[in-house]
Amino acid sequence: MKIDLHTHTSMSDGSLSPLELVKQAELASIDILSITDHDNVNAYDDIKKLKSSKMTVTPGIEFSSEWEKLGVHIVGLNIQLDSDAMRTAVDSQSRARLLRAQRIAEQLDKLGLENSWEGVQEIAAGGVIGRPHFAQLLIKNGVVKDFKQAFRKYLGAGKAGDIKQYWAPYQQIIEWIRDANGIAVLAHPKKYKLTRTKLVKLVDDFCAAGGESIEVISGNQTDDVTRILSKLCQQKNMFASCGSDFHHPGQAGCELGKVPPLATGCKAIWENWH
Ligand code: AMP
Ligand code: MN
Ligand code: MN
Ligand code: MN
Repeated sequence: MKIDLHTHTSMSDGSLSPLELVKQAELASIDILSITDHDNVNAYDDIKKLKSSKMTVTPGIEFSSEWEKLGVHIVGLNIQLDSDAMRTAVDSQSRARLLRAQRIAEQLDKLGLENSWEGVQEIAAGGVIGRPHFAQLLIKNGVVKDFKQAFRKYLGAGKAGDIKQYWAPYQQIIEWIRDANGIAVLAHPKKYKLTRTKLVKLVDDFCAAGGESIEVISGNQTDDVTRILSKLCQQKNMFASCGSDFHHPGQAGCELGKVPPLATGCKAIWENWH
């Protein structure tokens, strides 16, 4: 079985349209796919009419959230797209994302960039605006040479563009996911660069709030990290999820469907959501 439960389209910061992504996923022989765009489920409008022969597409979303002043991501899987809870969640997070984007634009203008707001809207081309679009703007204007530098100098943790106070707290996000009959998954837990104690605290708080799963496999992750997360997942008796975090074709380490099998002993989330 080939399973990829964390992917992005042009509805957030990915480059393939939803239909292109589904086509590529079929070509990659994926059995179960979830499109998990940042804070929106617009991709599912485009693929509604599509009936895939072999591949199951499980509705999903990746929410931006906050835990102890740290920006964290929570994936909702097997959510009911037409639920009141999802509508409320997406409305609230869209407003948050818009306000945040305007604040980031202001911050960049303060640092000397001009017309950041107009510039970023043009780049996002109607998609939901995120920091990667600002990174593209900084590159386009010759302020930085690549994405890495854009995040290191302007957009990453602690920098001018790191605005996270608009996101709903993790308890609220988990409640919305549960109310939409979905399962809340703590996304890529090792990307937050926490100490072991803090990571365990995050996982415990996440569980106490009703979160049930952690992503034990994510793109660009070493086998060591996968082992650590698989063990933690089993210790906390959670469901294991996995996904490439695919954004762009050819992006090294995050290829669509390139997700190794779960460690034995891990309870697969997809076997437990019906
Ligand atoms: P946002 O949703 O606006 O907070 O943007 C977060 C997205 O930016 C992540 O999902 C990644 O796609 C991308 N990202 C985060 N950190 C980096 C980084 N250091 N370099 C490149 N892209 C990044
Ligand atoms: Mn992204
Ligand atoms: Mn993420
Ligand atoms: Mn992601």
